[in-house]
Amino acid sequence: MNEQLGTVIDGLVVGLAYDLRLVDGELIDQADDNEPLFYLHGAGEIIPGLEEALRGMAIGETKDVVIDAEDAYGEYDPDNVEIISLDDFPDDMELEEGLELELHTSEEDEVITAYVSSITDDEVVLDLNHPLAGESLHFHVRVVSLRQATPSEVEHGHVHHSHDHDHH
Ligand code: ZN
Repeated sequence: MNEQLGTVIDGLVVGLAYDLRLVDGELIDQADDNEPLFYLHGAGEIIPGLEEALRGMAIGETKDVVIDAEDAYGEYDPDNVEIISLDDFPDDMELEEGLELELHTSEEDEVITAYVSSITDDEVVLDLNHPLAGESLHFHVRVVSLRQATPSEVEHGHVHHSHDHDHH
């Protein structure tokens, strides 16, 4: 433990316990004290509005943070859909509403996540919006731990977990 690492600043690895709920209270995601989310502060690993709200928080401090959709996963864009002929899918593929698909675009290494929003007799409508697009996010956060990032974490811009043995 390094006692001088008092508050959240850039270059620290933050251990974060949180509940994420929608406006209606539905629990979407959570991490507790035993298995917190670790992220490198200032590296853009988490959504910008949340990162900003965490800046300056001390270990043990809690906060309720409401992030508007535009600062989270963006507004829902009804035009951000793609209609694909059913013929373009493999015959043995079991399509159903809500199914998550990874689309490989022409750009190298770019993968877009899409969700099947509806299926007709000959077409499939894919929704390219993030599932949380258009949602305000309510976070209840608690800073569980802080540590200095390693030089390679700073260089890579993300946290290295102890099980990342093959990562460099
Ligand atoms: Zn790395």
